[in-house]
Parts: sequence; structure tokens; C-alpha cells
Amino acid sequence: MQPLRVTVWGENVHEHKNPKVGAIYPRGMHSAIAEGVRELIPGAVVTTATLQESEHGLTVEKLAATDVLTWWGHMAHNDVSDAIVDRVQKRVLEGMGLIVLHSGHYSKIFKRLLGTTCSLAWREADEKERLWVCNPGHPIAQGLGTYFELPQEEMYGEPFAIPAPEEQVFISWFEGGEVFRSGCCWRRGNGKIFYFRPGHETYPTYLDKNVRKVIANAVEWARPAGVWIDSCPNAKNPPEKIGVKK
Ligand code: ZN
Repeated sequence: MQPLRVTVWGENVHEHKNPKVGAIYPRGMHSAIAEGVRELIPGAVVTTATLQESEHGLTVEKLAATDVLTWWGHMAHNDVSDAIVDRVQKRVLEGMGLIVLHSGHYSKIFKRLLGTTCSLAWREADEKERLWVCNPGHPIAQGLGTYFELPQEEMYGEPFAIPAPEEQVFISWFEGGEVFRSGCCWRRGNGKIFYFRPGHETYPTYLDKNVRKVIANAVEWARPAGVWIDSCPNAKNPPEKIGVKK
């Protein structure tokens, strides 16, 4: 079996603007996310790509050689070129998996694929998050307890303006009382999409062992099961003769 090819995409802006973020993630958030996937899926080929690279590091060749793409962005969503969004969407429809993290809920690619505004309520107050596993048999929940906690996170609350998830894996509760659908699955075309909420840049969330486990599980879950190249063929030669009286 061909090794799983994972591309971890990072906006890579906060790390250079906010010293607090740079101190937690000295090599960038994308490097920490990639490190977690490498650690938990030793056979995978894990590379990173960032906004600042030519074509945001997502050339046609790179995407063709990507089985699962993870996406973290926040302040520079609008700097992502529409041509690259088109390209990523096409690959998801063909079968590439996509894991959208935290503030990626407002990325162009997530909104494009889901077709809704993807808005939510939010608050930065250093509060505790408890992630409840609401689907213990799901592949993305394997190896976790009934819940896990992050001591400090940004709060995301409902209403979360997404189409109803096809599968719900986690629901978060926050110290302030809000709840949020924090682990959601969809399929678009032949590709699988997972949204995972935690990951505000000023907290060491991507160093957390449970968060790393969820991302690794999601990467394995989203691995393509096949490829469907959309072509809209004119079916001129039907398998049965049409109009012949029986
Ligand atoms: Zn955030």
C-alpha cells in the first residue's frame, strides 16, 4: 500500500506577528501539527506548505500528490488566491481528504465546500474547554476517553452556521456555559471533510496529546478510498438498444 501523503497547510502569520504565538510555536503552528501526525502515523509522508510560498505551496503537482490536506488559517483568509481555492475544491471532489482546523471555519475553501457562512459566536477569556465524544464508535474518536479537556482555549459557541453534519464526533462545553459542535464530518463529491474546533494560536493546543490523536485519526479517516475524476460524459452507446419493440 502506498504511504499516506499528508500536506499540513499553515497561514503562518500570527507566529511572526505575536511573540506569544512565536514562543509556543517557534517553527510555526504547521510544524507542530505536522510533528503530531508524523509521531502518530509513522508510515505517513508528512510535508508542510504555507501561504507565503509560491502558489501558497499548493501547486497542481503538490495537490495531486496529497491524500489528505489539513488547513489552519485566520487573519489572512482573504490573501488566499481564488485560483488555489478552486484547485483545492477540485481535489476534494476527486477524493482528497480535508481537515479544517479552528479558525479555518472562515477560510474560503471551507465556506466554498459547505456553501454556508460558517459563522459562530466566540470569546477570548482563557476558559476551559471540555470535548465530549458523542460518537464513541467513530474512527476519529478511537483511543480517547468519554471526554477530554483543554485547560485554556478560545470559546466558540452556537449557532454555528454550517449544513447539518453527516456525522457528529465531538461536542464541546466551555467554562462560560456555551456548547459547540466541535467535531463534524461531511462528504463532498468523493472527498471527506472533517472540521475540528480547538487550536487558537495563543494556546499550546497542537502540542496536546488528545488533540494530536484526533487530528491523526481524522487524517486516517479522510484517506481517499478511490478517485473520481468528474468528466460529464455523453453516453452515446447505451448498454441496451433504445426504442426496439419487444
Ligand atoms: Zn482563534
